[in-house]
Amino acid sequence: MLTRRRFSILFSAGVALGGRPAGAAAPGFWPGEAKAAVSLTYDDGLPSQLDYASPQLRARGMRATFFLTEQNMRARLDDWRRAAAAGNEIGDHTVTHPCVLRRYSAESFSRLELEPMERFLDDNFGASRFKSYAYPCDNTSLGDGPQLIREARYRDVVGPMFQAARTTEGPPNAPGEVLANRLFLNGFEPTYDRDAVEPAFRYLRRAMTEGGWAILVFHEVLPRRMGVGDTCLRNHGRILDWIGGQPIWCAPMGEVFTHIRRTLGDKPGERIAAAG
Ligand SMILES: [Zn+2]
Repeated sequence: MLTRRRFSILFSAGVALGGRPAGAAAPGFWPGEAKAAVSLTYDDGLPSQLDYASPQLRARGMRATFFLTEQNMRARLDDWRRAAAAGNEIGDHTVTHPCVLRRYSAESFSRLELEPMERFLDDNFGASRFKSYAYPCDNTSLGDGPQLIREARYRDVVGPMFQAARTTEGPPNAPGEVLANRLFLNGFEPTYDRDAVEPAFRYLRRAMTEGGWAILVFHEVLPRRMGVGDTCLRNHGRILDWIGGQPIWCAPMGEVFTHIRRTLGDKPGERIAAAG
């Protein structure tokens, strides 16, 4: 996993070199002549996402992926079901959102956090939905031991249960690398450090330059920013409006992932530009 600092360095290098990265999409790869894809994702199943983000999405005809934790969203289950019925995608963000995972084994984490959440989501949102996961607190290490062992342990638990899993770090995803990297897809929290629109625009411009898949991560969407990571309603709306004016295909994660898988099939070389 890239640290935030490492990511900044790579990001700058990529912009400076200006080349097409390995696995970038060739022209015509995305639907409707779009230059890139973006998935809007919202973590934690927060009421503000229903009350503020969702109406802004609906007003613009945009659909998103909501990663729910059962603990947070249970009180508004009917509202979440309505959001899903309106075409939004529901993903798994565990039952209780544990950030410290050292005390878990693969078995106990699966039994306590993943399996019950999947059953709950299957019961309420249908078992045929796209199975996606977002790592709580962006922690991709499970249990005890050296980091490589902990990461492999988590991957082995998540791999058979989910089609795709998202982190909150890294540049836009190169389509040619998505299938191999399906359990560690890069995401970006545009308002994590400050509530501003420019980081989102920069990230999305890079996605368009590279033909990539941008995955934006939001948490609270509120009338006014109250803490780290919050997005104010005005900036959230500005980001959505900006996306609406760009040649970017905006769709939930499952739809973009499925498009990539179907388009590339077994012959990724045919539709993907070679490394520059
Ligand atoms: Zn979370």
